[in-house]
Amino acid sequence: QNVNARDLVDIEHIGQGTFGIVTRSFLRTHPDYVFAVKHITFQDDNNEQKTMMKDLEVNKSTIECPYTVSYLGALFKEGEILICMELCDMSLDLYYKKAHQYELCVNDFVLASVAHAVLNAIKFLHEKKMMHRDIKPSNILIKKQESTVSILVCDFGIAGNLVNSMAKTNVGCKPYMSPERIKAGEGYTFKSDIWSLGVSLIELADGKHPFTNASTQFDILKMVMEDPPPGLDQDDRFPESCAHFISLCLKKDPIDRAHYEQLLDHCFLRECMNPQQLFDHYEELQKCINSENNSNQS
Ligand code: ADP
Ligand code: MG
Repeated sequence: QNVNARDLVDIEHIGQGTFGIVTRSFLRTHPDYVFAVKHITFQDDNNEQKTMMKDLEVNKSTIECPYTVSYLGALFKEGEILICMELCDMSLDLYYKKAHQYELCVNDFVLASVAHAVLNAIKFLHEKKMMHRDIKPSNILIKKQESTVSILVCDFGIAGNLVNSMAKTNVGCKPYMSPERIKAGEGYTFKSDIWSLGVSLIELADGKHPFTNASTQFDILKMVMEDPPPGLDQDDRFPESCAHFISLCLKKDPIDRAHYEQLLDHCFLRECMNPQQLFDHYEELQKCINSENNSNQS
């Protein structure tokens, strides 16, 4: 199928990231199908285009995985690469901020569904000999379709080199990086993604990133390296199995850290995985957001 970047029409801006903006868009040739487009500016150079295309190839297999956002393809426009993917409703960083604003705190059912989906995505990638490298709430999306709500992981294999160079220069970022990754830089494994899942679960549960007390990027890295691993702030709000699950994700030594198979079999998921509860929480949040929007309009 011959798709041309000139046929792309942007409807609205839906997000701003480190690399550029994300829009809701469609193709003039297929006006009924709306999707998300990530716009990344880069030096226009044919060799770089080729390596990027190769990096992005891995994304094609995501169609097979029910826990990853489907990649639709990439287009090039002068100085810009356009990554087209399935459109979701919102990312979990927004979800938890809104939930805390409405005092609908992210509960154990939501956490269990997130953990389950992310672990399955890590497993899928691992089986394809890949890692995610950037697990964090803004790369975990939620999407409602009829009577179900899905949790989907996005943004992997998006030009590994680009992600790496950006991550190093982005001063304001909150690290989800594991100690071994900070220490070695390279040579880490999928267990690094498990650490990032643990940090993300704490952020969702507590409504803030566990290292918000640190004042500089350097302090955060130092805390990850030197302090005991973070845990839930108010763990009485959650079952004991939840805190235990998170502690298994946050073992500082990757050898002690749990494997995804062990976590997928953990009693926290057996006790708290409940698609209906996830759906209800999402519906309730949507109601709050809609009524706020309506009152702002009137
Ligand atoms: P980051 O992940 O660092 O926030 P991104 O550029 O990847 O930066 O994404 C920016 C924002 O765009 C995300 O936080 C998310 O809210 C939104 N977004 C990204 N991809 C999608 C998508 N497929 N569907 C809906 N929203 C998306
Ligand atoms: Mg992202």
